[in-house]
Amino acid sequence: METIQPIRRKRKLKKGVIYLGIAVVAAIILSIWGINYYKKINSYPYKLEKKGYNEQEITTITKKLKEKEIDQLLEMKYHKLYDDFIKEKYFIFKNLKAYVDYYTDESEQTLTHAVAMINVGANKDHYEDIKKTDTSKGDLILVNKYHQLDKDFVPEDIRDISLKYCYGENEITNKVYQKFISMYNDAKKEDLNLIITSAYRDYEFQNELWQQYAKSQGEEWADSVSARAGHSEHQTGLTLDIVTYKVNMNEFENTDEFKWLQKNAHKYGFILRYPKDKTDITGYDYEAWHYRYVGVKDATKIHDLGITFDEYYAYYIG
Ligand SMILES: [Zn+2]
Repeated sequence: METIQPIRRKRKLKKGVIYLGIAVVAAIILSIWGINYYKKINSYPYKLEKKGYNEQEITTITKKLKEKEIDQLLEMKYHKLYDDFIKEKYFIFKNLKAYVDYYTDESEQTLTHAVAMINVGANKDHYEDIKKTDTSKGDLILVNKYHQLDKDFVPEDIRDISLKYCYGENEITNKVYQKFISMYNDAKKEDLNLIITSAYRDYEFQNELWQQYAKSQGEEWADSVSARAGHSEHQTGLTLDIVTYKVNMNEFENTDEFKWLQKNAHKYGFILRYPKDKTDITGYDYEAWHYRYVGVKDATKIHDLGITFDEYYAYYIG
């Protein structure tokens, strides 16, 4: 009898070790499962799925949005158009809801058009919600019907333009002048003549111009033919109206000079500011003669992308 006791104790000990082992393994399995479960319910795919997004939408969202944007999206109610807008080239997250609202109201328009209109702010009435423009942008300063220059904004380095290049007395910034001259000379080599009809215009001049129009045929008409003071790009000193001999402004688009500018203006830093098919985005009728200097790099990009300066500014600069 005396010899049995140690064996029993040994057996008990063995059993205890086995139970402990099982408990440890179970705890490990449970905690791995727990961690994985925790990870899963905190993952964006899981959260987005709970919000109603399908697999393909989740792929787009997690690929194209930043984490803090997904967080914001998760605060918003699911909408089937969100995914379509997120895929758009010039999509800007903060505008997402506005795209959907605008697109739904103006259902005949495309998604791409809705993105452009909202990015630029052109869904609003002209001269409504006006902001002071950021003049620190230099050559990329934005002036349109929603962004204005101060009364006392005067560009640096303004100088007279030789009568060789323009009709009447005009001034422009020296940098733009030099670029125009090299453009003029290269066009001349192909027997083409570029003539400036208007260049720098100060606030007061623009104000008088608009007031005269308004007095003669009313404000609405004045707005249709002229920018209000502070809203003319000509005040930047970066803008030239260019035509050629023997044609008026409205005929300029049919000339070889215009065709040459279409192909080459960006190489000198100029862009056609108010293109034909973008009038609702720019807020201006087609102006084949109005060229804006933005620098060669940006002009080339804008030319190649085929977008307006307003859209370019909203997406790349603003
Ligand atoms: Zn002009």
